[in-house]
Amino acid sequence: MALIVQKFGGSSVADAEGIKRVATRVVETQAAGNQVVVVVSAMGDSTDELLDLAAQVSTASNPREMDMLLSAGERISMALLAMALHEAGTSAQSFTGSQAGMITDAIHGKARIIAVSPHRIKASIDKGDIAIVAGFQGMSRDSNDITTLGRGGSDTTAVALAAALKADVCEIYTDVDGVYTADPRVVPAARKLATISSEEMLEMAASGAKILHLRCVEYARRFGVPLHVRSSFSQLEGTWVLPNPDDTIKIQEGEPLEQPIISGVAHDRSEAKVTVVGVPDIPGKAAEIFGIVAGAHSNIDMIVQNVSTHGSGHTDISFTLPIVEGAEALTALKAAQETVGYEGIEYDEQIGKLSLIGAGMRSNPGVSYKFFKALSDAGVNIDMISTSEIRISVVTSAHLLDTAVRAVHAAFDLDGDAVATVYAGTGR
Ligand code: ASP
Ligand code: MG
Repeated sequence: MALIVQKFGGSSVADAEGIKRVATRVVETQAAGNQVVVVVSAMGDSTDELLDLAAQVSTASNPREMDMLLSAGERISMALLAMALHEAGTSAQSFTGSQAGMITDAIHGKARIIAVSPHRIKASIDKGDIAIVAGFQGMSRDSNDITTLGRGGSDTTAVALAAALKADVCEIYTDVDGVYTADPRVVPAARKLATISSEEMLEMAASGAKILHLRCVEYARRFGVPLHVRSSFSQLEGTWVLPNPDDTIKIQEGEPLEQPIISGVAHDRSEAKVTVVGVPDIPGKAAEIFGIVAGAHSNIDMIVQNVSTHGSGHTDISFTLPIVEGAEALTALKAAQETVGYEGIEYDEQIGKLSLIGAGMRSNPGVSYKFFKALSDAGVNIDMISTSEIRISVVTSAHLLDTAVRAVHAAFDLDGDAVATVYAGTGR
């Protein structure tokens, strides 16, 4: 008997119809002889709607209350799914994150998991029930308060439970059939990947591909949990994210043995660019600037320091960070203008980031040439560049991002023959 954790995203449980469809899928999985733990997200766009509501009531930040509010979204879906499962004649019980033993630190809105003790979940499935867990939430033992893991965090709940329960697989059900070579909403000719290494998946998630929560991929890799990304709207086999490269041959029966050079193109519109102009070109200034930004709890992504103009003794430092963290970082930097001694600050939210990802690029020369040639042929100007061994990323202006993604996707022959199906979801 296998133990399967199935996570259903918001678009899979968007309405009563969806909840019943999910119930059918869960019942089938159990009937096939498996133990099933289900993790659900909030229905449709309801988390965004709760955020909109909160903004209408107050503009102040209320991290504790925000987590109380947002965690309610997942409780609605878990209870409705339990009812639908009862209706289908099975016994099922729903559990909040804290009932399921998801223990986190006390940082509201982006809590990190520190322990998972799913005793009640284990007991529930051992007596033959289906256990349903509210995704994206936990509880801090320090504050005794409810926390949330950050947007998209239900994926991480699912993997953390799968690891703690030593599940055989963690299935992530979403609104497309798997991981594609690019977002099918931007590139309709995108192709579904049969497998992807967790290393590449990490780069994709970190580069803005929204299909999986970054921390879910990190967690799955650390604990060796095989992930299967698929759709609740079809019975098709999805994409396997393989935590261990040696698994490739085992799981990939009938597939070519050599991995393709490029696995996909990811894009991201959620970042802004900050340029600190006229920074004294002396040791310690970059450390000062990034110390200030870190103090404002911002996660920096790309960094570029220009060569100082001859003889001026000053340089410009640009970096990107999440738009949502921009205001706080700017305030902190402005407050330190005199001590750091820079001349000015520029801030731009109209940027987009495009990343080309593939483990094969480290052994294939000419990848960057082809990449930059595709962008130049498409008339896309490049603002910043950063690379890793298996990724090249550039920042462009926001309005050219889609064009750039399609150009790069085509240049690397990633276009497939069919139009990728997007079953649901607003992409909000
Ligand atoms: N409902 C939460 C969100 O929309 C968590 C999740 O869906 O994973 O971000
Ligand atoms: Mg998601």
